[in-house]
Amino acid sequence: MKILVINCGSSSAKFQLFDIDTGAVLAKGNAERIGIDGKLTYKPAGKEDFVSTEPMPDHKVAVQMILDALVDKDHGVIADVSEIAAVGHRVLHGGKYYSESVIVDDDVKRIIRECFPLGPLHNPANLIGIEACEDVLPAGTPQVAVFDTAFHQTMPAKAYTYALPYELSEKYSIRRYGFHGTSHRYVSHRVADFLGKNYEDLKIITCHLGNGSSFAAVKDGKCQDTSMGLTPLAGICMGTRTGDIDPAIVPFLMKNENLSADEMDTLLNKKSGVEGVSGVSSDFRDLEKAANEGNERAQLALDMFAYQGKKIIGSYAAAMGGADVIVFTAGIGENTDKMRKAMCEGLEYMGVEFDDEANNGLRGKEAIISKPSSKVTVCVIPTNEELAIAQETERLVR
Ligand code: AMP
Repeated sequence: MKILVINCGSSSAKFQLFDIDTGAVLAKGNAERIGIDGKLTYKPAGKEDFVSTEPMPDHKVAVQMILDALVDKDHGVIADVSEIAAVGHRVLHGGKYYSESVIVDDDVKRIIRECFPLGPLHNPANLIGIEACEDVLPAGTPQVAVFDTAFHQTMPAKAYTYALPYELSEKYSIRRYGFHGTSHRYVSHRVADFLGKNYEDLKIITCHLGNGSSFAAVKDGKCQDTSMGLTPLAGICMGTRTGDIDPAIVPFLMKNENLSADEMDTLLNKKSGVEGVSGVSSDFRDLEKAANEGNERAQLALDMFAYQGKKIIGSYAAAMGGADVIVFTAGIGENTDKMRKAMCEGLEYMGVEFDDEANNGLRGKEAIISKPSSKVTVCVIPTNEELAIAQETERLVR
């Protein structure tokens, strides 16, 4: 069965075509600068890459160009678009409505639209992508919405409720939603398989450390808590996002720096985090290099990231009554042995015996990085959100 996965942004559409029976990626690419000029980068497996700069005035044209590339006689990978059994769409926000992926119908589209205020940058683009596929693919091709928030919908009220006036929270649907759900779901299931353990029997702490970073506590096969909140700004400090700060800092800076709400939003999301602290970069490779060269603020930013991550891990162990597995994933989690070690340092009290030898130099591979005697098994599991979306799509349409 062939499944097309699409991740639509306001001016881009990233895609991968999977043969889900083998897990192989037949082709992948990105349609960028939609509505500006247009650039399609297309990488078919076993064939020459291909770049087109034909104009892309809207997402419908972009999706049509992607389909044309997939069936092209020179660099295509399928004979006809009818071979695409279904399309899986990454959708940022499903609000409180979806704890699972769903086949798209009019009701689903209405809810994605209803969640525009909760995901103003992503949800409109996600819906445009769905409608572009409806317009361009053969009638009746099923489409599936896979929500970034869905996995976290099992959190209990005490974990997702903010201590604001209850009526205001209800009026504006303000609560913790959490994000990266597709990744947390994928790596938590995958680590149970990898260890040969029953998912429902494990207390798992998943650490998705990338450009955006979030943690989840998974117990009894359900997400119990997560570090991102109403928006992906909450939790640990990130590349350019503050993470959790004293909320009183917001009005303080707005008053003293004479900032508008939009300017404050930009400061919190785009000018803060490890980049804001270090003044160097949001990229952990640059930070590690600068810290090695003696840059104290780069070292401070790395120390803050490790310290805040450790505190979240400790708090999730407390919330679940212990932990059996800690799993690291995403760009930083998969690639930086130093950060994994720093985050686990001092966790001996809760049963972590870290294995330096297994950890040192490990990159992008499934592995155990704790000692065999460790009560808590620490693992690296590379995430694969596109494959997870394809698998969810296949499960629903089969
Ligand atoms: P992601 O959002 O999962 O793509 O992660 C991207 C981030 O991972 C980058 O901004 C880097 O900070 C980090 N990263 C990727 N590769 C490495 C590496 N080899 N060493 C350190 N950090 C890395």
